[in-house]
Amino acid sequence: MSITDNGSALIPYNSVDMATTPETSVAAQAKYEPVIGLEVHVQLLTVSKIFCSCSTHFGAPPNTNVCPVCLGLPGALPVLNRKAVDFAVLAAMALGCRINETSTFARKNYFYPDLPKGYQISQYDKPLAEFGKIDIATANGSKRIGITRLHLEEDAGKSLHEGFADSSETTAIDLNRSGVPLIEIVSEPDIGSPAEAHEYLTRLKEIILYTGVSDCNMEEGSLRCDANVSVRPRGQKQFGTKTEIKNVNSFRFIREALEFEIERQVGILESGGKVTQETRLYNSAEGKTYGMRSKEQAHDYRYFPEPDLLPLVVDEKWQAEIHSALPELPEARRKRIVADYGITEYDAHVLTATKSFADQFEAAAKAAKNPKRVANLVQGELMGRLKAKGLEIEQSPISMKGVALSADLVESGAISGKMLKDLYDRSFELGKDFGIVYENEKPQQITDSSAIEKIIDEIVAANPKQVEQYRAGKKTVIGFFVGQVMKASKGQANPQMVNELLTRKLEG
Ligand SMILES: [Zn+2]
Repeated sequence: MSITDNGSALIPYNSVDMATTPETSVAAQAKYEPVIGLEVHVQLLTVSKIFCSCSTHFGAPPNTNVCPVCLGLPGALPVLNRKAVDFAVLAAMALGCRINETSTFARKNYFYPDLPKGYQISQYDKPLAEFGKIDIATANGSKRIGITRLHLEEDAGKSLHEGFADSSETTAIDLNRSGVPLIEIVSEPDIGSPAEAHEYLTRLKEIILYTGVSDCNMEEGSLRCDANVSVRPRGQKQFGTKTEIKNVNSFRFIREALEFEIERQVGILESGGKVTQETRLYNSAEGKTYGMRSKEQAHDYRYFPEPDLLPLVVDEKWQAEIHSALPELPEARRKRIVADYGITEYDAHVLTATKSFADQFEAAAKAAKNPKRVANLVQGELMGRLKAKGLEIEQSPISMKGVALSADLVESGAISGKMLKDLYDRSFELGKDFGIVYENEKPQQITDSSAIEKIIDEIVAANPKQVEQYRAGKKTVIGFFVGQVMKASKGQANPQMVNELLTRKLEG
């Protein structure tokens, strides 16, 4: 349920229970259905901690951001940080949760060295928010994953096992993290495969990033995930016995840990055994999970109401204030971008992967003379080149401003489509933005009408049949002539002038 005892993740309690290599057949796997629920902890980007005014800054020297409250000294009283509530409610709204006007804090009691008070302040029977959802894409279409609850809690400190003088013999404690605000987001057991778990986490992270309440930096522990998993014969309603995989630090590892664990559980059931309810750890180097503590050793947290904090009341007015800060969310934005710019859903996904990039794209599109042309260039010229080079859109040498500039140059006839393609190629070769490459290599365009007319005369003379067709009323033949003239000028003739001069010539 909690990440606060994550220090224990480093030492398996029960080393006798070693991982077994599961080798169940595909047929055996197909007989069973996995049931997965995820608990995600997200650190909120407040400047100060949840119950005191200490800084939340990551990377400060150990035990420098501490005070009597977050050190758990006797008599120190917690004071709730209003910003933490704002952020938690905003995240809950973005996840489609119902906000409970009144929620309460509770003490979750357990003993661990990184928890000086001997309890963690969390929320238990009256959480801040409930009944949310995330829609994920699956092979069989969209699937809704329920969110049971979202609640506020404080983080614990951190046990240090390395990086100081006698770390081979002792463990040190850093309490800078003690009291940093977290939200815990608990999903319903609606997730049916490791791939769905991965997709759920990806969407969850994307939504949280859009709200700006967390940086979701997994390396710094701003986003952490525990997974509950069980298997049951397909068609059976009753859940199988679950195990909990704790503290996996990347989405890929969660997927791998779940794959291993499902296979392990199926193997046990197939050989007539019983799955033991326990907490397990994932060793990413070996790709295996190991038993850490069984149910008999599980904590009894003895939750009780926190007597030092009043019930938290987020009334309608406050909720409305927070709601007004809710940005357009990724899913809605994707739908709108598809409609506004006429691009594919796939490209809309790429463009909206981060809020900052989607903002850049839309700002560029709006500033350009023809917004749709910007979208078309991103789709038609940029995406393919990125893919060919194996680059993410954030790594593109051509910025959104560069794309907008190129769109305007084509729009005004200053460069042709062919020149644009060449300039894009050059940008990718040099790793420089379009504007720089354009200034350096400003392609010479032929705008001298007599030079263009000379080419036109040659083309017209060489194609009498097409001239006849045109004059007989088949006006679309002009496309053929434009193509020929552009080709003859190596793409350098000003397309607008070519069009005008050709029309005049053919009409005459
Ligand atoms: Zn403090």
